[in-house]
Amino acid sequence: MDVLGYDRRRIWHPYASLKDPPPVRLAKSASGVEIETAGGRRLVDAVSSWWCVAHGHNHPAIAEAIRRQSREMCHVMFGGFTHEPAVELAEKLAEIAPRGLDRVFFADSGSISVEVAVKMALQYQHAKGRRRRTKMLALKGGYHGDTACAMALSDPDGMHTLFAGMMPKHFFADKPTVPFGGRWRKAAGESVEEAVRRHRDEIAGIICEPVMQAANAMNFYHPEYLRLLRRVADENDFVLVFDEIAAGFYRTGPRWAAEAARVRPDVMCVGKALTGGHITLAATLASAKVANAISNGSPSAFMHGPTYMANPLACAAGVASLDLFANGGYAKKVRRIEGELREGLAAARGLPNVRDVRVLGAVGVVEVERMPARSDIDRVIDAHGVWLRPFANFIYTMPPLVSDSETVARITAAIVDLASAPPGPAPADGDFHE
Ligand code: PLP
Repeated sequence: MDVLGYDRRRIWHPYASLKDPPPVRLAKSASGVEIETAGGRRLVDAVSSWWCVAHGHNHPAIAEAIRRQSREMCHVMFGGFTHEPAVELAEKLAEIAPRGLDRVFFADSGSISVEVAVKMALQYQHAKGRRRRTKMLALKGGYHGDTACAMALSDPDGMHTLFAGMMPKHFFADKPTVPFGGRWRKAAGESVEEAVRRHRDEIAGIICEPVMQAANAMNFYHPEYLRLLRRVADENDFVLVFDEIAAGFYRTGPRWAAEAARVRPDVMCVGKALTGGHITLAATLASAKVANAISNGSPSAFMHGPTYMANPLACAAGVASLDLFANGGYAKKVRRIEGELREGLAAARGLPNVRDVRVLGAVGVVEVERMPARSDIDRVIDAHGVWLRPFANFIYTMPPLVSDSETVARITAAIVDLASAPPGPAPADGDFHE
């Protein structure tokens, strides 16, 4: 079978055209930090397959948990049934979540968990009789997913502008500009306060990616913003939602990114590394305050219920993944990776095409003036055996959290090599590359 040929003619890839699509590689297997392609080439997965493969690919404990569960039951509807993997996972999540977030809704992807979080905020206000509070306040520069509501909360000038006509309208405060580790300026929070002053009676909740705005900006911002959002939410009885889908599970250092601000949200979304990147699953966690208000409203039911909700295979994978997080010493691992990324990427500073170099936890970013040409990206991937997936102006890595020092050094060498290449052509009008 001509796998690549058929793929090229008929199958859409993420944010890719079917007309002259960019080439894809044929993945055959993956284990640890590496993906093996047809022909036996092994590539270090420097983006953890979009940031989810925390414990490495095909971790034996997670693969075995899925196999074991598949012998008993692969799926059952969650309407009218429950099962042990779901309950065990909910209990483990509640144990490690910020205190009080112990009510769990299982969703099938990160985007859906965001939709669910927004519905919770709206249903909370509805239950309190505030029927005009149907909007969210979000931050420019954010990204919350590709479904309609999640797009509508992402950067209004970002990758989803094509769909502006069909998206619900929400309110936006400025993109956070005070960097993580920088000096806080009170004026930086003014646009949040201003949006609240103007639209208070229409706002149901506030949503943000705590500390790290990932897919739309690769922006590491000051934790004081989160304290400000918490204060504003408390003063106005808004539901505060933290989207920890990218930043959670030690990616930025602590288990939850919001720990840097010592602030707890009312609702939190988790996904990606929840199953260690083995199978899709996300969850929306809510406080008793939110859950009770919804339950005491009319309808008292929470109005969402996807077909694959709490899929047993995914929940079993989640349980195994959380066991690995509990015993893996990840905070220490990430501290080591952070130091190595800082050291390895320092060589990119001062290169003619480099605008900025920044590192937080197990995230390293080289922001370039203009992305090098596709041929340079492919050359670097092949020469170093390191899989990179740069986008917009960002050459970055979010390596598996189990990456050893040698792996991190290989990744940073590849990134510095790519950052040394000349700027590529300006993107053609209408071209998009995520
Ligand atoms: N929220 C954040 C912060 C994300 O980074 C992403 C994906 O990159 C999502 C939500 C959407 O998750 P999914 O792709 O699983 O729908």
